[in-house]
Amino acid sequence: MSALSFFSGTRLESAPPPDNVIAETRKLYRELSGAGAAPQTILHGIDLRVGRGEFLALTGASGSGKSTLLYLIGALDRQTSGEVWLDGVEIGALDDDDRAAFRNERLGFVFQFHFLLPEFNVLENVFIPMFRRGVARSEAEQRAYESLALLGLEDLWKRKPGQLSGGQQQRVSIARAVANDPALILADEPTGNLDSKNAQMVFDVFAHLAHDQGRTIVMVTHDRDFAMGADRQVALRDGHIFGEGRRGEDVMPHSIPSQRG
Ligand code: ADP
Ligand code: MG
Repeated sequence: MSALSFFSGTRLESAPPPDNVIAETRKLYRELSGAGAAPQTILHGIDLRVGRGEFLALTGASGSGKSTLLYLIGALDRQTSGEVWLDGVEIGALDDDDRAAFRNERLGFVFQFHFLLPEFNVLENVFIPMFRRGVARSEAEQRAYESLALLGLEDLWKRKPGQLSGGQQQRVSIARAVANDPALILADEPTGNLDSKNAQMVFDVFAHLAHDQGRTIVMVTHDRDFAMGADRQVALRDGHIFGEGRRGEDVMPHSIPSQRG
């Protein structure tokens, strides 16, 4: 990890954000130029700050750029221009190996689909990624078990994913993201594939992690009530930030035009 401080230290033209900011994008653009297709600008110079310990919801219509922004913050994609600072490091300046190391060690991801390994039990699903990153097996198992307990899943550790409800499976994927004690948890529509009861349960888990455990979370959601339950919501439209609100404020327009098709 010494390479990281080397890289950030050489970018003198751009000062890191203050310590209480875990993630910051500066004039972030993402363009696509498909073969034969006209270039398309997906994100138009997004400036966004996420505070340490903040629970931020990213909202907006389908196609507004939420996932693209989340993947850039998560070092899963590369911007066309602009900067992404994460935990004091400008990750655009890192090569692919350093980015992957950064992602594995400091970020936790939860997606709409849980991506659990069906042939492994719940505990194995949570500890195997840590074990593969080089954490000793006994320590990885211990951390996995603690993470499952945090989510009220300790009694289910022997089960296979197929023996769990959709909401339980998604909670296991959250346990997997949390087990490594990430600096930032990124979730892309984590309730999007669940019925309303399970969606509420999963949302409550995120709220608990944020408000009782001090975790930092950026969650993409279509759900108005869930967005309003976060500390702050930032709404995107056509790759621009068009609105922002504190907890309890409604910033999503009531009829969001679909950008699809
Ligand atoms: P959201 O998550 O808000 O639904 P996305 O970030 O997935 O939006 O996509 C934003 C826009 O970028 C959409 O118009 C989408 O069609 C387009 N887009 C995203 N990724 C790709 C890609 N790999 N190829 C082509 N178009 C893409
Ligand atoms: Mg999306």
